[in-house]
Amino acid sequence: MARVGFIGLGNMGLPMVRNLVSAGHAVTAFDIVKANTDAAVAAGAKAAATVEGAGEDADIVITMLPKGEHTLQVYEGSGILNTAGTGTLFVDCSSIDVASALRAHELAGAAGFKSLDAPVSGGIVGAQRGTLTLMVGGEAATVDAARAVLDAVSSRVVHCGGPGSGQIAKMCNQMMVATNMAICAEAFAMAEKMGLDAKLLYDVVNTSSGQSFAMTSYVPVPGLIETGRAEHNFEPGFTTELLLKDVNIFQAAAQESGLASPIGQAVAKLYEGSIAAGNGGKDYSIIIEYIKRMQRA
Ligand code: NAD
Repeated sequence: MARVGFIGLGNMGLPMVRNLVSAGHAVTAFDIVKANTDAAVAAGAKAAATVEGAGEDADIVITMLPKGEHTLQVYEGSGILNTAGTGTLFVDCSSIDVASALRAHELAGAAGFKSLDAPVSGGIVGAQRGTLTLMVGGEAATVDAARAVLDAVSSRVVHCGGPGSGQIAKMCNQMMVATNMAICAEAFAMAEKMGLDAKLLYDVVNTSSGQSFAMTSYVPVPGLIETGRAEHNFEPGFTTELLLKDVNIFQAAAQESGLASPIGQAVAKLYEGSIAAGNGGKDYSIIIEYIKRMQRA
């Protein structure tokens, strides 16, 4: 069993810590919000008072932070790369832009550590159940070294290639997540307008070619599935703000590569509008309310 330092105990990090503890790993946890560190302690982790404290004596340090700037704050802005013991392995599970991921690898490497970018998919339900898919970039031997720990939070670890490749896979996945949810919301709003029962639409599309994760596991209509956030007043889950961050990572990559992204651009505008309407801190599936508002206007 490993000694795991875990930094970032939000909607995803906390349930991941619970699964690491359940699997028998010794977790030392830190979040800048003390209440989140306290929640990790209630889940069986030990509290660290600082970022560096989470790295002391750790075999592996996992970060689960909002954006690239936060990962770099930990790698570059704290002293963790100076104080961690020889052989500590650094794994960033945050969804961040490729340039920041490459910088994090570079910083870890310069300090003598092996590192992985390992963004996750599966949402809070996947985090709670320990069934996340991990998209991992880095050396194959490093993936093998981390596998026993990563298995405690995931049902599938996919080695995507060298440094940064996990983040490339993740940003493509996220562009599809955002698009599938937006069109799912638009279709359910249309069905409601035309008098078709939402449960009937849900049942029929689930075994038809319009099926998606957005539909099956995250449908934005209340009363259909317990795992949807419409059931919970669109409390996150996954905030619209974080989803737009991922969409914008894809959009910036499209621009840098000189590739058109006509669907992605339109979808980005929708989520920008949803945030301007006050939904940034709500679950991204609240896009259905924003689309209905557009339809009424
Ligand atoms: P969150 O905002 O709920 O949690 C982030 C946590 O990091 C917060 O508790 C915050 O206090 C903490 N934090 C920020 N800066 C810190 C620092 N310097 N040191 C220590 N702690 C710090 O976000 P989340 O939903 O858990 O998402 C985390 C990452 O996972 C994001 O990159 C997100 O895009 C990705 N992700 C989220 C989901 C989801 O469904 N929520 C799914 C897949 C991937």
